[in-house]
Parts: sequence; C-alpha cells; structure tokens
Amino acid sequence: MKRKSRLKIVTVTEEHSRPVGPLDGTKVPRFAGLLTFARLPRREEVTSCDIAVVGMPFDSGTSFRPGARFGPEAIRAGSRLLRTYNPALDVSPFDACQVADAGDLAISPFDVEAAMEAIESGLEQVLATSTRAVALGGDHTIALPILRVLHRRYGPIAVVHFDAHLDTWDTYFGAPFTHGTPFRRASEEGLLSKGNCIHLGIRGPIYERLDLSNDSDLGFVVRSADSMGEAHHEEILEQVHARVGDRPVYVSVDIDVLDPGFAPGTGTPEPGGLSSRELLSLLRGLVDLPIVGADVVEVAPAYDHAQITALAAAHVAYELVSAMAIQAASGDGTYRP
Ligand code: MN
Ligand code: MN
Repeated sequence: MKRKSRLKIVTVTEEHSRPVGPLDGTKVPRFAGLLTFARLPRREEVTSCDIAVVGMPFDSGTSFRPGARFGPEAIRAGSRLLRTYNPALDVSPFDACQVADAGDLAISPFDVEAAMEAIESGLEQVLATSTRAVALGGDHTIALPILRVLHRRYGPIAVVHFDAHLDTWDTYFGAPFTHGTPFRRASEEGLLSKGNCIHLGIRGPIYERLDLSNDSDLGFVVRSADSMGEAHHEEILEQVHARVGDRPVYVSVDIDVLDPGFAPGTGTPEPGGLSSRELLSLLRGLVDLPIVGADVVEVAPAYDHAQITALAAAHVAYELVSAMAIQAASGDGTYRP
C-alpha cells in the first residue's frame, strides 16, 4: 500500500485564508521596521480583514491642551512591544482572525463639520472591506461620526464609555461639536439606545449639579471613579452587562479615565482616576458583549513622559482587539440585533 505523504501541501487558497500576523519579534527587532499597530500588516497587504485598526488624527474639538492629532502615531509607537498571545483572555488575537492597520484617515484640521464628514466617509470605506474597526484618536469628537456610521449598520447603540468626563455637554463657546459634546449630539440624533448607556470613571468638578440630571435624560447612568476599586470589579461588570442588555455595544475609552499618574499625556487630566491595571482588567470583562466598534482617544503625546500614556493606550487597543477577535473567531463576526 502506498504510504501517504506526510508532506502537507498548502494550497494558495488555504495559505491566503490564514491570517497574516505581525512581524516576528524574534527575527526583526521590535524597534525596527515601518510603524503599524502591533507591527501588523497594512490593510492593503492582506486580501480580507476582520478587524481594522484605523487612526483618526484630529484634535480641533479640543477645549484645553491640544495635541491628540499626534495620538495615532504615538499609540502605534507604544504598540511595538505587544506580543501575540494574550494570556488573560487565552487568545492569540492576530491568529484568531485577520487584524490589519488601515492607516490614518485624512481629516481637515480647520473645519470640524467637514472633519466629521471625512471620518464618516473614511470609516464607511474601511468597513466596506473589514468587519469591525478600532479607532485610534484623536480627540473625543471622533466618537460622534463613528456612532453615525455604526447606527446605520446596527441601529441604536449601547455605549460603554470610560472617561473622567461626561462628554454630554451642550456647547462650548457656542460650538456644538467639540470633544465635550459627542454623546449629547449622539443622543439627540437618535444614535444611542437610550437607557442602555453607561459612563465609567467619572470624577472631578463639573459646571453644575444640573449636568448630571441632563446626562441621565440623554440615556446614561454614571459610575464614578471613586466607586471603581478592584474589589468592585465583579459588581461593576454585572452592572455594565445588565445596563447594555442585548444591544450592540460601542466601547469608547478616553485615556483620561486613567489617573494622570498613569496617563499624563492627555488634554484634560483629572486626578483621582483608575490605574492601568484596573482599566485593562475591566476591559477584559467586556469580552462576551457584542462589541461592534471601539475607540481609544485623547492621547496627546506632547505631555507624555517615557511613553507612559501611549503604552497604556496601546494595551487598551490590544484588549479591545482581543475581545473582538474572540467574537469574530466564535461566529461569523457579524452582529445581528
Ligand atoms: Mn475626558
Ligand atoms: Mn472624553
């Protein structure tokens, strides 16, 4: 009887159907090579894509320290040391599905409304050939055009929002579209699944007590940073799950949810925030939610030291990609409400 050859013949189709991973850190030093998120391939280098990481370098909605337009490149630089296996979630996200870097959207720094249109059309283009996207900001204004796009695909969205700030203010110097207003505008435009949204990490002085009741009318509940120590994580995650119900979820992470000691490089730092460990642990607890999109925003590298903020943001993006990868690998990657 003829023995079966042990040589595995890989067809072109099979070869192409395997995810293309990051550059091998044992062959090319992590500090070398062209910069992409986690040293992944660029979008145009792969035939299909499950999760696209896309930079949105825009900070013209900033009210205090500018500079988040340089966030995407700082986060990519901070992601050079990310390795391929995530032990906390037991997943190799870049092996479970195809993840690629879709580069930066070309966004005007001069006209906020034109910028939001560019983000909408740019993200539509990315999602035309990728199932999901993780956005690297940019200031928090970018969440509004992203939610417009996701609403067109999935209907009203449940937002899980990590931030020191509510970001549901009305106007600032008369301007309706700023990094302090995206979730009010999103609520007014009917993009949110009202009653299914939650802010986590809120702290610090606000303009007036009325801000809080206005925020509740817009569809959110508030979980304050003071109530978010590690001992409360199980209960916090139960609250988040109960709150979002079965709605499609958008996870928005303003890096200023971290204490300035863990994220000094940001536009509106607020003392008394979460540690990196607390935030990453909570993000891992969202793994079983139907996450249809996510961002990490407000990294302003000019105020950063030793890449502290950029490293934290890169790890936030890695956990979000890991959660999405588990979901993509377990089904067809498409959420249906
Ligand atoms: Mn904030
Ligand atoms: Mn914010």
